[in-house]
Amino acid sequence: MAVGAVRKKTYHRRSRYSALAEISRRLERRYRSASLGNKANPLDELIYIQLSVRTPEGAYLGTWPALRRLVNGSWSRLIRLPERRIVQALRSGGMAGVKAKRLRGMVRAIKKRFGRVSLSPLKAMPDDEVEAFLRSLPGVGPKVARCVMMYSLGREVFPVDSHCRRVLTRLGFVPRNVEIKASHDFIQPIIPPHLRRPLHVNLIHHGRTVCTSSRPRCSECFLADLCPSARSYDPNILTASRS
Ligand code: SF4
Repeated sequence: MAVGAVRKKTYHRRSRYSALAEISRRLERRYRSASLGNKANPLDELIYIQLSVRTPEGAYLGTWPALRRLVNGSWSRLIRLPERRIVQALRSGGMAGVKAKRLRGMVRAIKKRFGRVSLSPLKAMPDDEVEAFLRSLPGVGPKVARCVMMYSLGREVFPVDSHCRRVLTRLGFVPRNVEIKASHDFIQPIIPPHLRRPLHVNLIHHGRTVCTSSRPRCSECFLADLCPSARSYDPNILTASRS
């Protein structure tokens, strides 16, 4: 793209793949898919992501070790422990009562389905069955289910968190009128399977550091020449391809 040019419209279907591949390449070069703390064990990941739901990062990072200490390495203890002790461990992250109930409900449902408190049986199940089971658990929606699938089971799905949704919308891949609930099934099919994990991870990094919710730093953004929103946030922006 020529110096000074900025994309003005949303992406057309034909160019979507190459645009996403280029964006993914630049994001990967900057963020290197750096770990966000996700877990290799699917049950650990399910619980870790549950703790993060509608919770600031700093808050849930503190409740994870507190909960691990409480169960002493065995998640089945969540069933036997008094609920007030779970609430106490989760208090600093907020929504402690709701999260405690959900966690106990999840662990009970997993034990009922598989006869033990483990999500290892999911490894042998196809994607649609895995997602359906996870979404049947208390408090588990598409984002949580697909995080478990992507981070811990190696499935090529795309969890849509608030950063991914915001940055992809500003980049012109998601119409602004797509409702949050519908965005999961709108966005996943447009992302090529092999780009889903790196794009998810790197879009979160980009959303946290550059394309922030309240004040996107378009003049410093290495995607500005590909972004139809850059000029609406910074009318004076002059962009060149930074590939
Ligand atoms: S140019 Fe601005 S709106 Fe577009 S991705 Fe970068 S920071 Fe976000």
